[in-house]
Amino acid sequence: MAESESIKEYPVPGIVVTWEATRCQHARECVMGLPGVFDPKKRPWITPEEASVEDLVTVIDRCPSYALSYRTDDGRTRTAPN
Ligand code: SF4
Repeated sequence: MAESESIKEYPVPGIVVTWEATRCQHARECVMGLPGVFDPKKRPWITPEEASVEDLVTVIDRCPSYALSYRTDDGRTRTAPN
């Protein structure tokens, strides 16, 4: 599916963080929530190893556009609505 090709994955132990650039509204909830993980000035701009799985889940759940989603090893998922 062409749409999924724009989704980048950032895997670390316990969680895979995904980011879909075309959905991002630059609301910066992620940057304000975990500045050590989400830094638009860095490449890669997402470094999930800088936070715990629980903190990642909490902050990613605030992403209003669903640009950020995740799959955790214990079965929790957040996926964008169609
Ligand atoms: S919270 Fe979501 S929409 Fe806002 S900047 Fe981060 S990824 Fe983009």
